[in-house]
Amino acid sequence: MSEVAGYSIAVRALCEFTAKQGDLDLRFTPSPTAQEGIAGHAVVASRREGGNYKAEVTLEGDFGPLHVRGRADGYDPDRNLIEEVKTYRGRFDSIPANHRHLHWAQLRIYGHLMCRQLGLEQVNLALVYFDIGSQQETVLSETRSALELAGHFEDHCGRFLAWAELELAHRAARDAALDALRFPHADFRPGQRQLAEAIFRANAGKRSLLAQAPTGIGKTVGTLFPVLKAAPREGLDKVVFLAAKTPGRQLALDAAATLKRSGSLPLRVLELTARDKACEHPDKACHGESCPLARGFYDRLPAARAAAAATSAALLDRATLREIGLAHEVCPYYLGSEMARWSDVIVGDYNYWFDGGAMLYALALANGWKTSVLADEAHNLVARARSMYTATLERAALRAAKAVAPPGLVKPLDKIGRAWLDVSRAAPLPYQVLDSVSEKLANALQNAGSAITEHLAAFPVPLDPALQEFYFSVLQFLRLIESFGEHSIFDLTRIDERDTALCIRNVVPAPFLAPRFGFAHSTTLFSATLGPWHYFADLLGMPADTAWVDVDSPFHAHQLQVHVARAISTRYQHRAASLRPIAELMARQYREQPGNYLAFFSSFDYLAQAADAFEKAHPDVPTWRQSRRMSEPERAAFLERFTPGGRGIGFAVLGGSFGEGVDLPGERLIGAFVATLGLPQLNPVNEQLRERMQAMFGAGYDYTYLYPGLQKVVQAAGRVIRTEQDRGTVWLIDDRFARADVLDLLPAWWEVDVT
Ligand code: SF4
Repeated sequence: MSEVAGYSIAVRALCEFTAKQGDLDLRFTPSPTAQEGIAGHAVVASRREGGNYKAEVTLEGDFGPLHVRGRADGYDPDRNLIEEVKTYRGRFDSIPANHRHLHWAQLRIYGHLMCRQLGLEQVNLALVYFDIGSQQETVLSETRSALELAGHFEDHCGRFLAWAELELAHRAARDAALDALRFPHADFRPGQRQLAEAIFRANAGKRSLLAQAPTGIGKTVGTLFPVLKAAPREGLDKVVFLAAKTPGRQLALDAAATLKRSGSLPLRVLELTARDKACEHPDKACHGESCPLARGFYDRLPAARAAAAATSAALLDRATLREIGLAHEVCPYYLGSEMARWSDVIVGDYNYWFDGGAMLYALALANGWKTSVLADEAHNLVARARSMYTATLERAALRAAKAVAPPGLVKPLDKIGRAWLDVSRAAPLPYQVLDSVSEKLANALQNAGSAITEHLAAFPVPLDPALQEFYFSVLQFLRLIESFGEHSIFDLTRIDERDTALCIRNVVPAPFLAPRFGFAHSTTLFSATLGPWHYFADLLGMPADTAWVDVDSPFHAHQLQVHVARAISTRYQHRAASLRPIAELMARQYREQPGNYLAFFSSFDYLAQAADAFEKAHPDVPTWRQSRRMSEPERAAFLERFTPGGRGIGFAVLGGSFGEGVDLPGERLIGAFVATLGLPQLNPVNEQLRERMQAMFGAGYDYTYLYPGLQKVVQAAGRVIRTEQDRGTVWLIDDRFARADVLDLLPAWWEVDVT
C-alpha cells in the first residue's frame, strides 16, 4: 500500500480479510504446487482458445478511498461469462466449504468490476475447479445482476474500509513521527554515524549494501534508525530485520523499543517466532478438530487483529502475541503470521525472507510491499542459504518408508530403490559427484511423489511419520531437480556397507537469492566480519550496484596486543608436536597477565589433547572445557566462569557456541589464543566445492577455505575487545598467520606483531 492518499488492495487480499471464516486448517493437503497451479490454469485457458475468449482480464474499481484491483482468469464476451479457475487435487468434495466461500466472494467482486467496466446489467459467473490429477473440470455457475454484485462489492469494501481508514491514519501518523524522529542518544558512537549514513544513502538510492561494522558501535540502532528515517520519503511499507539467532532478534526488538520510546513512535513492531516455540498445544495438530485455538480461528481473528493493531505502545513480541491470542482464543503463532501484513517493522529469522517458501518474501511480492531488509550477523548467510537449497535422501529412510507404506505405494518406492541402485553402481567411490540426477531416478521420484500425493487425496488421514518424512524429502529433492544447475552439485556418499545418501548440494545460493535482493527496495547485510565483499556479493547474488562500507572501528591498536606464534604449526600432521609449545605459550601469557582467557582449537579432539597437555604441565591454572552437544545450562555455566577479576582458561572449539555472539566485556575476558586458521576440513565434499569455486569465480581455495576460516578467527578474537575501555591480548598460533594474504584479512585496526 504505497499510495498514501488512498488505499490500494488486491481483490484476493480484500476477500482474505472479509470472507475468511471458520477453522484454521493446516492439515497437510496434497494441494498442487505453484508450478502445477500455473500449468493447470494454462490447460484451462488453452481449452478456450479461439473465438473472443480473453484470458487474464485486469479489473479495477474504487470505493471511496479504496482502490480495488485484480485479474479474473477469463471472460467470454459471447457468453457474458467470467471464469475463475482453482486447481486442486483429489476429491472435489474434500475442498472445504470455507475455501469455496472465499472463491465465490472473489469471483463476485470480479463480476461487479466487470459489470462496471462494460456497463453490463448482469453477468454469468463460473467457478472452474480443475483437478490436476484427472485434468477434469467441475464447474459451479450462477448468474447475478449488476445490482446484486454492486451490493456484494459494497458490503466487502464497507467492511474493509473501516480498517483501511485506520490503516491510512496509522500510516500518516507513523510517517509524520518518523519524519520528526531524532537519534535516540545524545550523540552517535564512533563509527555509528558512518554506518547510519551509508544505510540511509543506500535506501535513498534503492541500492543494496554490504556493511562491515565492528562490534561495540551500536549496530542495531545504527541500522534501524536510518531505515526508519528513510521510510517516509522512500514510501517504505515494511522494514524487515533478520537475525541468525534468538539473541540477535532480541537486540533488534530492544533497539526498536528504544526508538519507539524516544520518538513516541506509533510503530507496529512484530517478532516472528518459530512455530514450535510459539505453539500452545504441541501435542495437537493445526486444525479445528484437534486444536481449540484453530477452531473458529477466522471468526475470532478480526477482534484479535484489532487488539494487536491497537497495541501501539508495546511491541508485538512473542509474549504480547501470546497474551492477545489467548485472550481471544486464537493461535498466537498464526496471529503473528497475520500481523505480518499489518506491521511496520518485522523481526525474524533469515528464512522468512531467503528460503524457498519464505513467508515474508511471498507476502511482499503478492502485495507489492516496498520493503527494506536488514540482515544482521550476515557472515552466516552463505552457510544458511546453502542449507536452504540443499536436499538429502538417505537409503535407510527409503527402507523405513517402505516398511510402513500402504500396499499401493510399495511399488513406486521399489522403483526409487532400483533407480538408486543404478546410480550407486555408477558411483563406486566412497564419495562421488555425478553430472546430474539420472532421468530414471528423477522419474521414479516423480512417480512416487505423485503416488503418495494421490494416496493422500484419496485417504485424507495422516501418513506414518517415516513415510511422511521421506515424502517431504522427495518433494524437496524434486523441487531442487527442477532448478539444478552450476550452482549445485549432485553427489552420492557411502555411509556404510549397506547405505548411501544422495544429495543435491547447493554451493552458490546466488541464483536463488538474487531475485530477493532485486525485489527489495534496499537490502543491507551487516556483520563485524563481512569481507572480502566480493566473496559475499558473488556467493549471495547481490546486485551489481551493491555498495560496500567498512566502518571505522571505535577501538585502537593500543587496546589489543596481537601476536603471531609463527614457530608453531597447527596442521594436522604437526598437532602432536604443537601441544607442548602451545601449552608453554599459554602458560607464559597467563603468568605475565593473569586473568580470564579463551583458547580456540579446530576440533574437539585437538581441544582435548591441548587441554590435557596444558593441565598436566600447569595443574595450578584453572581450566574448563567446551564439550560436544552442550545443553543451554551447560553453556551458561561455561560462560559464568568468566567473572570480573577471575582467573583461568576456557578451552573451546572455533566456530562453535563460544566463537561468536558471546559478550564478555572488561575483565571477564582479557585474552584469546587461536590455535587454528579455522580452515574447513579437507575432505571430498570441500574439495568439490573448491573446484566449483575455482571454475565459477577463479578463487577455489580462497572461497572454500581461507575466507570462511579467517572469518571465524576474527569473530573469535573479537570476543576480547568489546568496549573502548577493554584491553587485551590475542595470540594467533600458526606460521600461516604470518603470510601476507592472511594478514590482509585481519581487521585494519589491529597492529600485528609477527616477529
Ligand atoms: S496452538 Fe499449536 S497446534 Fe494449535 S493451531 Fe497453534 S501452532 Fe497449531
